[in-house]
Amino acid sequence: MTTVAFVGLGQMGMPMSRNIAKAGFEVRVFDINPAAVEQAAKDGRQAADSAREAASGAEFVITMLPNGEHVEEAVFGKAGIAEAMAKEALYIDMSTILPTATDRIARRLGEAGIAMVDAPVGRTSAAAVTGTLLILAGGDAADVERARPVLLAMGEQIFHCGPVGAGARMKIVNNYMSSVLNTLTAETLVLAEACGLKRDLVVEILRGTPAGRGHLNTTYPNKVLKGDVSPEFMLDLAMKDIGLALETAAGSGVPLPTGAAARQFYVLAHQQGRGRQDWTAMLEAIRELAKLS
Ligand code: NAD
Repeated sequence: MTTVAFVGLGQMGMPMSRNIAKAGFEVRVFDINPAAVEQAAKDGRQAADSAREAASGAEFVITMLPNGEHVEEAVFGKAGIAEAMAKEALYIDMSTILPTATDRIARRLGEAGIAMVDAPVGRTSAAAVTGTLLILAGGDAADVERARPVLLAMGEQIFHCGPVGAGARMKIVNNYMSSVLNTLTAETLVLAEACGLKRDLVVEILRGTPAGRGHLNTTYPNKVLKGDVSPEFMLDLAMKDIGLALETAAGSGVPLPTGAAARQFYVLAHQQGRGRQDWTAMLEAIRELAKLS
């Protein structure tokens, strides 16, 4: 039977390791919190006294820890994974950490002849329980394929994003967008409330426009992503509309810092001479600021 070591039995790791066991793997677990190890052991997994003991002789070693320092500690610290991992085994880090930390860990393990896949996950702990996580993997194609049966025990969609570190980068890109959209969504609903609009109606209307459906589902595909910035809706008009919202909000004492920052990008794009281009030309404006074009 294939043995999987699983280190980090928190909100995510506990159900993820349970699903690996359910899929027929032998699972050996470790967490610095003994109560978590005990709970997993009661539920049929093998308890280990250290990350090293969990990793010893395992074909796959998985970490699901809060941060880069925790991962480095579990891998390279005293009684850590690197002390025991076999060269043929595959290390998979599923934590959300800085990509540069992933690169560092992969390099150090590589020097010891150990292959790594980074495979952070999308969705929440509810999806960890049901085994329906979105898994964003980075690594050599052969290593990601090798990891696939174990990953499929935890998730329903696995994307190979590129070399090791690409999973971590994709995860950050995704979370950046959804986290900023969260503040924008909240600001917008507060503005609507201050304007005296009915929330249910506001939500229904916004869900049908680019505001709620997102630009990637509406405006971008047929315009800037096709290289077409001829105006369907002019960038300067969008800038004017943000101004109207900011002025309306100021009159009601509603702060719109996300919108205020966004307006500055419209000013910059306008100064680049893009005022009469399609509003999706914002992508080209920011690429120019980032010196990518
Ligand atoms: P958590 O805090 O619930 O669990 C972390 C576990 O790691 C704890 O049980 C802790 O005792 C253990 N731990 C810490 N250092 C350790 C070490 N050196 N050795 C062994 N065990 C150690 O966190 P979580 O919610 O399970 O999240 C884990 C990772 O998954 C994070 O990077 C998080 O950003 C990411 N993530 C979380 C969610 C979510 O909905 N909770 C969703 C997607 C991704």
